[in-house]
Amino acid sequence: MNKKLKKLTAILLTVCLAFALCACSSGGSGTSQGTGQAQPAGGGQTTEAVQETVPAADHQAQQAETAAQTAEAGAEAANTAAEAADTAVSQTSSTSAAASDTASPAQQSEKIDYLALVNKQNPLPDGWEEALETVHMTNSIGDDVEVEKKAYDAYLLLKEDLEKEGVYVDLDSARRSVAEQQRIMDDFTEKYGADYALKTVAQPGYSEHHTGLALDLYLIIDGKDVVENEDMIQYPEIWETIHSKLADYGFILRYLQDKEHITGYGYEPWHIRYVDDVNIAKEIMDSGVTLEGWLGAVNETDVDINYGNSETFIPEELAEAAIQIKCTFAGWKGCELHNLRYAGDEADNEENLQWLNTLNQEAGYTHAAEFLTDFHSPVEAEGAWEPDHEYKDYQWWLGRTDDGGWEVVTWGY
Ligand SMILES: [Zn+2]
Repeated sequence: MNKKLKKLTAILLTVCLAFALCACSSGGSGTSQGTGQAQPAGGGQTTEAVQETVPAADHQAQQAETAAQTAEAGAEAANTAAEAADTAVSQTSSTSAAASDTASPAQQSEKIDYLALVNKQNPLPDGWEEALETVHMTNSIGDDVEVEKKAYDAYLLLKEDLEKEGVYVDLDSARRSVAEQQRIMDDFTEKYGADYALKTVAQPGYSEHHTGLALDLYLIIDGKDVVENEDMIQYPEIWETIHSKLADYGFILRYLQDKEHITGYGYEPWHIRYVDDVNIAKEIMDSGVTLEGWLGAVNETDVDINYGNSETFIPEELAEAAIQIKCTFAGWKGCELHNLRYAGDEADNEENLQWLNTLNQEAGYTHAAEFLTDFHSPVEAEGAWEPDHEYKDYQWWLGRTDDGGWEVVTWGY
């Protein structure tokens, strides 16, 4: 069975490689996979906050640095937060007024693509930073925050609307330049080594925050700033209210629950993305798909998952493995994955482990896991796929790395 599987894998690989768009990698590994599938550099299951910002210990230093940079920049420097806020408001309105003198709203929005996809596979489009028009504001903590101009205007309307419901938000961070991300990367490399930096910091050029259209909100509850992620997550009802209003102002929630295999990030109720077009925002929010799914960059379907009763792995470990499969599958254009089930602990035997370690000789896998899937091939399939066909009990083999990650090694019948 294994030999046949090997052969078919080789055929399928040639068909599927072109579509491989894997958005994530498992555990601490983040290394390339035995089958040679496309794999982002430094991907991992850490949260966006960890990947994109410095840890809490460095927060003050970062704030100081940001403040220093702001002061250097001159234009946005202000002696007090109140003054800064006033400056931001007048600056925003004057920028808008100036812009409306010279260009129609349609012309303005043509400068950047408000639906641009920037994620771990897709970098900031060329010329973006030159075309981007931003405003600066100072949040309740006193931090300078830079936001794309139209996104900021829309945010102010959203904020006003939320306040009518008794919900108070502010901007934690929005735009980060590629240069700033590079500084964070360099800083981490120096302090913690290149391996750690690659795993925990988003690659410069590959963060949605570069666009100026991604906004991280924080909550103000009873007059107190609630900024830390683990605190903010304690208020699901408040986030629900916020999310229900996003589309009305051209925003979407970007990192949805259970979609990290597609977005590459875990659930982040605070990270919203401006897409400008209210109708598109409504369509995306109503359908519950990711921006990747809506743009057709990946194939996104609901999948039934059954982890069975394993005595070797806990459900969380199998969930990590399932993410790797869904992730690979997301790149199989036009295929619809219906379900995914753990085949049982029997597959984790010496023979299979040896076989996987032969397929990927560098890996040194410590365990083997088999999953079975049912999926439907595209109506107009080419190559190894039988068109419009329901594939049953299709096998996936994963190897467990010694740091506890999973790698999809091979698949087929
Ligand atoms: Zn964010």
